[in-house]
Order: sequence, then C-alpha cells, then structure tokens
Amino acid sequence: MLHRPLKLLLLSTSVGALGTGLGGGVELTLLNVAQELLRRGHTLKIVAPQGSVLGDIPIIEIAGELQTTAQTQGRSAPIVMPENSVLGNMWDYARQVQADYDLIFNIAYDWLPFYLTPFFNRAIAHFVSMGSLSTAMDRIVEQIAGQFPGTVGVYTLTQAETFPSPSQYRILGSGLDLSLYQFSPEPSSALAWVGRIAPEKGLEDAVAAAKITGIPLKILGKMQDDAYWKQICQDYPDAPVEYAGFFSTSELQQHLGNCRALLMTPRWVEAFGNVVIEALACGVPVISYSRGGPTEIIQDGKTGFLVEPDSVAGLVEAIGRIDQLDRYTCRQQAEAEYSLEALGDRMEEWFRDILQN
Ligand code: UDP
Repeated sequence: MLHRPLKLLLLSTSVGALGTGLGGGVELTLLNVAQELLRRGHTLKIVAPQGSVLGDIPIIEIAGELQTTAQTQGRSAPIVMPENSVLGNMWDYARQVQADYDLIFNIAYDWLPFYLTPFFNRAIAHFVSMGSLSTAMDRIVEQIAGQFPGTVGVYTLTQAETFPSPSQYRILGSGLDLSLYQFSPEPSSALAWVGRIAPEKGLEDAVAAAKITGIPLKILGKMQDDAYWKQICQDYPDAPVEYAGFFSTSELQQHLGNCRALLMTPRWVEAFGNVVIEALACGVPVISYSRGGPTEIIQDGKTGFLVEPDSVAGLVEAIGRIDQLDRYTCRQQAEAEYSLEALGDRMEEWFRDILQN
C-alpha cells in the first residue's frame, strides 16, 4: 500500500447538496471512501455544494446553481451550464488550491471536470458513477481515459461496457461500513424497494408485482420525480404499497432488515446499486432484473434471484421462491466482498498507481 499519507481533495457531485439524496448512491460512496481513507491516516478535504452534510467530515461549501441530472437528458443533449454554476465554482476553487494536494478525486458525472483535466497541474482521479448516458459525455470521458491512462474508474464491468472502450476503465466496486448494518434473521412479510423515485429505477414494475402477489411493498428513498410517483399511484390505486420516506442509513437499515427481500427493477444499466449490498448486509436477499451492477453482485439462487429484465411475471415467480434463500448467506457475502477495508484497498492502490505514473 501507500508508504506515506496522501493529501487528497475530493470533489462531490454538483446535482445536489450532500445529504439530500439527490446525488443517489455516490453520496454514500463518497462518505465511505472518505471515512476509510481518513482511518488509514490520509488527510482530505471535501468540496461540495452549499448546505452539504457528510457524516462529521468537514466540507468546503461552494455556492452556485446546481447541475441538471444527466439521466433526465437525452443521448444527444448538449452540455448545459447554469449562469452561476456551482460545478464551475467548485472546480475554480480546486484550481486555486491544487498545489496543497497530491491528488484530486472527482465523483461528479459531468463534462466540465473531464474537460478541465489537462489544464490542471495535479493528477485527477475520476470516478464515473453511471453508465453511458450521452454522446458528449462519452466522448470527453473516453478522451481523458485515453490521454491519462488509468485515471478513470467505474463501479462495475457491465457499467464500463456501456462506454465505447470498456477496457480502459478501472473497476472499483463499492463497500460499506458493515458495523452500521445489523443482520436481521426474522423479517416481516413485506418486500422492500429502495432508491430514488425516478423513471430509470422502474418502480412501477415492483408495484405491479406487489399488486399481483398481494404482498406489501415498502418503498424507501428520495422522492426525485413527483409526477412519476403520482402516475404510479394513479395506475395502481389498490396495490398494497407504502411510501415510507427518505431515511438516514441507521433508519434505512432497520426498515430494510425487516423485509423479506429487496426488489430491484432498473430500466437503465444500473452502475452498481449500493442498495443491493446494503440489503445483503442486513441479511436481505435481492431479486433484481438481470441488468447492470446487480448481475455482478447477486449470487443467483444463493443471495437473490436475477430475473429477465422488464418481466413483472419474472419478479412474481422469483418472489414465490424467496424461502429457498438463506439470510445469513446474504450477510456473509456482504462481509466477504463489500467491506470498507476492501474498498479502501482498491482506492489506495488506484491512487498509488496514478501517482506513480
Ligand atoms: N438511500 C438513503 N435513504 C433512503 C433510501 C436510499 O440514504 O431512505 C441511499 C442508499 O443508501 C444508497 C442510495 O440512496 O446509497 C441509492 O444509491 P444506488 O447506488 O442504489 O442508486 P443511485 O441512486 O446511485 O442510482
């Protein structure tokens, strides 16, 4: 591992303040990476939009207008910058202080940080948190990955494969502070669905499965798209579902642990799915469409079931077989593969490789 402590500058997503849930899984990934690096003796600062909170880690808060989320734009959408862009302001700050750091870590899925990379003196490690969504973004990501080999990381191989040259991305996975997730051997009868309430997450299929099976579905997560949620309620007025809200990790794992299984219904290539490993950590098996990150995490038939994408009938059939899965095996998989130590090892090794080149 690294022989001396590093000084790191971590730049957050600019689609929302940390703690709001608008950034999705990268908020938890950033927290986990930061905490583990601090525990290992590195020093770091986090730069994020004003109002951000990330555990008890101090944050350099930057004012300005938020970026629009990439997944709500089309493939041919141009790059758009608001008048007083928080993203621009964050990177302006980074440019001014870069000499104080060994390495800059970028977790924003945005064009600007990639474009700025050759203009910086310090190396930038880019963590790409979603699959390919637009040609403009693909182009700049590929360009920087080619120009600065080894500096662009992703969560999973299936995510990397959505970009034109998958082999140039470093696979970093994810990890959790497992001590925050309690193993729960005796669930209620309910199923869980966890995520941002947004079309790319395919919530309506989980609601349809709840309606067919009559098994209650507990929905947990950030209400990102109100109109989308209202439409689901209108289409399935009598489905046994409950939107419980957006919770802190400690409350989330309590709710989640009390469920028989987690349903994952992504319409897009889910880059990873932090909620999958959070469920496993609680001993909750995961039934997911066989698409994206969950296919690399779930052990089909052991810690969950992978079903044909977009098939509600497939979900229903798998729900009928939940009892074949052992909850303790789920927890064991999380411990063996998704600890914070394992994530910290991969991140440290990545940073060391970048700095040695
Ligand atoms: N989450 C949360 N509270 C909730 C529901 C979800 O903090 O009530 C978090 C969860 O811990 C996870 C994130 O929301 O980190 C969802 O991330 P995921 O990687 O599953 O999907 P993304 O939103 O990045 O597409």
